[in-house]
Amino acid sequence: MAVSMCFKCGKMISISEIPTGNPAAWQNPSVFALYYGSCKSCGMYCSDCIESAGGRCPNCGKPIEIKGPSAIPYEEYKKRRDELHGWWQKNVKQPGLKKKVEKKEGFISRILRHFNR
Ligand SMILES: [Zn+2]
Ligand SMILES: [Zn+2]
Repeated sequence: MAVSMCFKCGKMISISEIPTGNPAAWQNPSVFALYYGSCKSCGMYCSDCIESAGGRCPNCGKPIEIKGPSAIPYEEYKKRRDELHGWWQKNVKQPGLKKKVEKKEGFISRILRHFNR
């Protein structure tokens, strides 16, 4: 799994664009940021640090675009973060996880169905 670190707060950043790309990140929202952005001159930052800087680089102040798993828009993720992690814990973090995670496409559509319910 591809992982980086926020240059400001040190939080781990999961740079997988697939929701199942890094199961550890989905299980530990306090340790991993799933959304992030990078400034060409300064480095990579977690979504929290970018937001507290007003959508800008916490170091130089240039606007930064927040990216993450494309199946889930960031605004939607923010609104439903607890719900989504609860859902992950209940449905995916259990024996057989690997098999389920291997079917990435199916998993993404299940997440989206969950959101659209
Ligand atoms: Zn940060
Ligand atoms: Zn910068």
